[in-house]
Amino acid sequence: MKYQEFHRRSLQDREGFWAGEAKLVEWHKPFKQVLDYSKPPFAKWFVGGETNLCHNAVDRHLAKRADQKALVWISTEVNEEKSFTYKELHLEVNRVAAMMRSLGVKRGDRVIVYMPMIPEAVFAILACARIGAVHSVVFGGFAAASLAARIDDAKPSLMITADGGSRMGKVVLYKALVDESLRLAQHPPKKVLLFNRGLDPSLSFVKGRDVDWNEAKPKRASVPCEWLESSTPSYILYTSGTTGHPKGVQRDVGGYCVALASSMKRIFCGEPGETMFTTSDIGWVVGHSYIIYAPLIAGMTTILYEGVPIRPDAGIWWKIVEDHKVAVMFSAPTAIRVLKKHDVSFLRKHDLSSLKHLYLAGEPLDEPTHTWITQALGRPVIDHYWQTETGWPLLSAVPGVERTPLKMGSPSFPVYGYDVHLLHERTGKPVADGEKGVVTITPPLPPGCMTTVWGDDERFVRTYFKDFKNIYSTFDWGIRDKDGYYFILGRTDDVINVAGHRLGTREIEEAVSMHSNVAECAVVGVVDSLKGQMPLAFAVLKDASKGTSQQEIMETVDKQLGAIARPKAVHFVTLLPKTRSGKTLRRSIQALAEGRDPGDLTTIEDPTALEQIRKALQ
Ligand code: AMP
Repeated sequence: MKYQEFHRRSLQDREGFWAGEAKLVEWHKPFKQVLDYSKPPFAKWFVGGETNLCHNAVDRHLAKRADQKALVWISTEVNEEKSFTYKELHLEVNRVAAMMRSLGVKRGDRVIVYMPMIPEAVFAILACARIGAVHSVVFGGFAAASLAARIDDAKPSLMITADGGSRMGKVVLYKALVDESLRLAQHPPKKVLLFNRGLDPSLSFVKGRDVDWNEAKPKRASVPCEWLESSTPSYILYTSGTTGHPKGVQRDVGGYCVALASSMKRIFCGEPGETMFTTSDIGWVVGHSYIIYAPLIAGMTTILYEGVPIRPDAGIWWKIVEDHKVAVMFSAPTAIRVLKKHDVSFLRKHDLSSLKHLYLAGEPLDEPTHTWITQALGRPVIDHYWQTETGWPLLSAVPGVERTPLKMGSPSFPVYGYDVHLLHERTGKPVADGEKGVVTITPPLPPGCMTTVWGDDERFVRTYFKDFKNIYSTFDWGIRDKDGYYFILGRTDDVINVAGHRLGTREIEEAVSMHSNVAECAVVGVVDSLKGQMPLAFAVLKDASKGTSQQEIMETVDKQLGAIARPKAVHFVTLLPKTRSGKTLRRSIQALAEGRDPGDLTTIEDPTALEQIRKALQ
């Protein structure tokens, strides 16, 4: 098979292979060495090479496609549409870069971007890349305490935000939340750049700290790209793990740029001049990679959509595909499950002939959903699997190299550059075909993957390379069939996936415990027909006579983490099932909640605790 050979070469001749892929990127200074792997597991790609992500995403296209649309913004929330050619995008990014410079942002400084899905967010992100500032985009749905934790870890010199966003036609105000997060943070930035889109009639500016974007932005500006050595950090993106503290996934400049450019050619088959529509949010890794950087690096037009898939009706995405001749579309299984509840005519009434492929990722794609959307579209629907850590797909079909047949429910094969193995949980030995194992990557991780945990190299090693000595664990279960196709079976750790968004149950437990009357709690992820999984909480109250309600606990979670982490239900019990050594039996709770057998209970301290869970679930 042609692809198998391609994959083999990417591992056998790593340096030769990636030196070839690196030609897809413009370098200011050529690299001296393709890979420096002298300090495993830390990999440095394209050592000594200098480039810039903004140059590759914007400036390099000015010669050939200055008047081609680069960014199309569609908002069904505020009913607006705007587009920017590459020339216009270049101007806007320069203006924002100049504004950031005038606010004292220097190369290497961190900038927190807390913004809704508006073009200004894209300008801000690209402007950071331009001047060598490290952006850290925080998803607009996160609450003040979560934002404050990220601020304290990144220690930014500037925060860029807006007055608000909108969801389902309801305004979500940002400013009060931002003020609260800055009050909570130990290391608040000195300046806040605030874009006023006119959603908050009572918007106020803090004197000396808040700067009005609309007033500060210069009419014209020319800020040259900073040439950055390939392994310079480009951004930090926080993600959940098994501890209560999110990790800052750090990425480089050169490796990321090459991986994205390569993926557009080989996996997404996106040609310059074509349009890509990725329905994610800029606050997630998919948004970073496939709304912003990759389609622009590829010289495509990218669509930034502020809205939901069913408003004004369930045909809105397909209308966008028709209107903008979308060639490559990328979404998540949850969204397709939502659309599946609506009549297929919403899809069929649109001319979708421009669409080559639909890509889905972020959570397991169940077979019925895969089959439904494939039949409805009459196009290949490619399930691909990746993580915030990898930055681009790790399992996928690679139709730019070979059009291999797709199997429903499978993200196909290891992507080139990734040395994937399924290992036995305890022995660490490779499992046989058809046997369940943990999905691992033998390092070095390919270009584009995380280079370390921001500010904590030791945590990078301790988190990812500990379960299997010196081998990267994805913390996902997988299985491979006899034809080499992989199937992902879910997480091995206490991370749950709610509508494609990753949350640590520990984080939610900590949020629940912030309620003053909660003594202890356990949060587990349970199957949900729409969102894939949802958190379910069990709480032990300090004083049951106080009449604490489920609603109060939910509001506490909203306040600490944001509504995305809100439990589906909160059950009150007087004790939690624990082992004799004091470990909460989360897996048994989860099994009961999903109607399964609770498993081995020989080590349980008090079996009546499980009875309480059973009763609560009834
Ligand atoms: P995130 O870092 O938020 O993108 O979440 C990554 C996690 O989402 C992975 O570790 C998987 O558990 C899950 N995931 C992503 N893509 C897929 C997929 N195609 N199939 C199954 N699970 C997926």
